[in-house]
Amino acid sequence: MLNYGIYYMKQHKTLLIIKPDAVLKKNIGNIISMLEINFSLVSIHTFNFTENIAKEFYIEHKGKPFYLELVNFIISGLVVVIILGGDNNIITNTRMLVGCTDFQKADKDTIRYKFAESLTKNAVHASDSFNSFLREYKLIFNKNYEL
Ligand code: ADP
Ligand code: MG
Repeated sequence: MLNYGIYYMKQHKTLLIIKPDAVLKKNIGNIISMLEINFSLVSIHTFNFTENIAKEFYIEHKGKPFYLELVNFIISGLVVVIILGGDNNIITNTRMLVGCTDFQKADKDTIRYKFAESLTKNAVHASDSFNSFLREYKLIFNKNYEL
């Protein structure tokens, strides 16, 4: 390894959020333990969504029956925002570990199978594409992600 810093910068990234239900149930550590097996934790932040940021964050779901419930849920308490690093499959691999949106259909070794409690309260969010990662990062950190 010539230069750890350069290697680190070249890693692909994604954004994972531990949602208020999982924070409330003290599952932060359990979820981080699952993430640490395969991914590098680049940074960890606590965050409180405002209503405006939440509405924008979930804009793709605007008009759906669960949109307002979702917005109210994500602003209901503290969340933990984690930037994960890995190879160029990091986004797909993270979403595989997260599991199906409906926890009742999620595989047994996924985060949602273990920690979700309902369709809305499903423990975690993970970016679904690099563009989503950039959009979500900017909304939460109020600045562009620097490549
Ligand atoms: P994912 O988080 O797996 O990418 P979506 O982007 O489709 O799923 O939905 C965003 C979030 O909205 C979900 O994680 C979940 O919290 C909530 N949600 C999705 N579908 C429903 C539904 N049918 N009823 C209630 N909440 C839902
Ligand atoms: Mg999604």
